[in-house]
Amino acid sequence: MLRDVCNCEVTSSFKLEADFVADPIWCNICGWNLDIDEFPLIDNLKDELYQWTKQYKKIHINKHNSIGQNLTKKVEEELGLDYRIIFIPDK
Ligand SMILES: [Zn+2]
Repeated sequence: MLRDVCNCEVTSSFKLEADFVADPIWCNICGWNLDIDEFPLIDNLKDELYQWTKQYKKIHINKHNSIGQNLTKKVEEELGLDYRIIFIPDK
């Protein structure tokens, strides 16, 4: 559980979705955009997430979505069983 990172008191449910200005991880309950640095992720993976966000709308949508899917899996593995994260594909 992460505490005081969004409008929820605690949350363990997230979604990965790219946007132009924001970090790509959001609370899946209140929809708050979360600071990636709040997450217990290895720096490599944070870098990959930043790169992916930076390429938003610059690469083909299918490629964007397949990388996003892959990153979601990696984040899921890093966070462990106490957390849930889903991927929201770009349309
Ligand atoms: Zn929340």
